[in-house]
Amino acid sequence: MIDVLIIGCGVTGAATAMELSRCRLNVAVLERENDVALGATRANSAIVHAGYDPKPGTLMAKLNVRGCARTAELCGKLDVPYQNCGSLVLAFSEEEVGTLHTLLDRGVRNGVPGLEILSGEEARRREPHLSEAVLAALWAPTAGIVSPWELCLAMAETAVRNGAALHLETAVTGLERVGEGWLVHTTRGDFAARYVVNAAGVDSALIHDMAAPHEFDIKPSRGEYYILDKAEGKRVSAVIFQCPSERGKGVLVGPTVHGNLIVGPNAEASAPHDTATTAEGLDFVKRTAMLSVPDLNFGQSIRNFAGVRANSGREDFVIGFKAPGFLDLAAICSPGLTSASAIGEYAAELLKNDGLPMEEKPDFILERRRTRFKDLTPEERAALVAREPAYGRVICRCETVTEGEILESLRSPIPPRTVDGVKRRVNAGMGRCQGGFCGPRVVDILAREYGVTPDAIEQDKAGSRILVGKTKEAGADV
Ligand SMILES: Cc1cc2nc3c(=O)[nH]c(=O)nc-3n(C[C@H](O)[C@H](O)[C@H](O)COP(=O)(O)OP(=O)(O)OC[C@H]3O[C@@H](n4cnc5c(N)ncnc54)[C@H](O)[C@@H]3O)c2cc1C
Repeated sequence: MIDVLIIGCGVTGAATAMELSRCRLNVAVLERENDVALGATRANSAIVHAGYDPKPGTLMAKLNVRGCARTAELCGKLDVPYQNCGSLVLAFSEEEVGTLHTLLDRGVRNGVPGLEILSGEEARRREPHLSEAVLAALWAPTAGIVSPWELCLAMAETAVRNGAALHLETAVTGLERVGEGWLVHTTRGDFAARYVVNAAGVDSALIHDMAAPHEFDIKPSRGEYYILDKAEGKRVSAVIFQCPSERGKGVLVGPTVHGNLIVGPNAEASAPHDTATTAEGLDFVKRTAMLSVPDLNFGQSIRNFAGVRANSGREDFVIGFKAPGFLDLAAICSPGLTSASAIGEYAAELLKNDGLPMEEKPDFILERRRTRFKDLTPEERAALVAREPAYGRVICRCETVTEGEILESLRSPIPPRTVDGVKRRVNAGMGRCQGGFCGPRVVDILAREYGVTPDAIEQDKAGSRILVGKTKEAGADV
């Protein structure tokens, strides 16, 4: 029997699996999609929030502040791109200056170190592109930026490397209490488990209702973004927020760990899985962002995307045992990415307190490295290519990603199955041409390595076919 079965492999499920894989336990993670990190975890602002925003005394406040420090530490160990760039919240009116003082007070009560209110001049000295209309700003030195999907992947890989089982394309359809445990019905048969952990993101209320009396609803809220080319990547060096409102943390302008600039999000009620972008939403994002940084060049936009928040209307996450052996890690809205590593630790503590024996393994591995060809010195590159010629073949020209790196990802604990899966692991397709050049080459490599025809290779989620047949003339895939 499985000791702990986790539903969902976004950043919450991955962090929980990683924590449990420290111990002699039989852990399984069931994920509906064909890869990890395909929910909110891949489509967000990628900010490691300092922790002045959540209401003092809440679990969210505690996990945010702990998660902010822990994420920085974990990213070092697991080779996940992270930068401690700090953040500024801008005030444009006396009323908003009052909001900055409220946030400062909350932050101090939450235990956030180093918070400081700067004058408009001081803020512009740090960030020369800020609007002249900025009156004051709250500086949070512990905030940072991270690659969200790599954080999730790194924690999921660590769990798998330490013995956890990951079942992709396995959707949970029902939960049944049987004896002292649970029978978990899925699209790939039944699983028997002593404990079930609900980390199903925007669908966490549906999973909760399968096991316990109805308690909360998820009110999905979509946020849309621009990603600007690296030519705009240095427009700001810290994350620039506006004052938060009841609709969320507002539109931000920030650097990304990949060297681009991210601008967004708006907040609109949406269907749970509606990640479409809209002309109105993007127009709002653009106009609002330019209040903070007026000279943003949206002509350098290379991509738009949207993510859906798992809001519950509460000012806290929904975490706790809701039925015997059934633990909710539900409604993990923002700052869920920041908090995830702390949520994982807390979930392990709750399970232990409930009686799960947690005997630590002496051989637990908390380490991960991947080759980044473009960051190597010329001497290191030459040595690598001499050892393995596939590192000498550049597949993605924008990001200088080699075939060797793609092959390395295919030998990792959670190999990519799709073109976007390769992109999330090695950055191929993340550059200015957005996969126009490397896309077909990645399809060929995946087809060759998996021993299938190119038309079997998908772009992203199941059903996202790229090639649909052959032309009569050439017999080529189209
Ligand atoms: C627009 C936006 C901006 C944000 N910005 C930030 C930010 O800057 N910083 C921050 O800290 N947080 C941010 N967040 C919040 C953060 O992204 C989320 O809190 C976090 O990603 C939630 O992770 P999760 O694992 O709980 O959910 P998800 O990543 O959604 O994962 C849930 C997983 O469960 C799977 N699943 C669902 N149902 C089933 C089923 N029946 N069977 C099997 N699997 C199932 C899904 O396929 C999915 O993979 C933002 C969120 C959004 C949407």
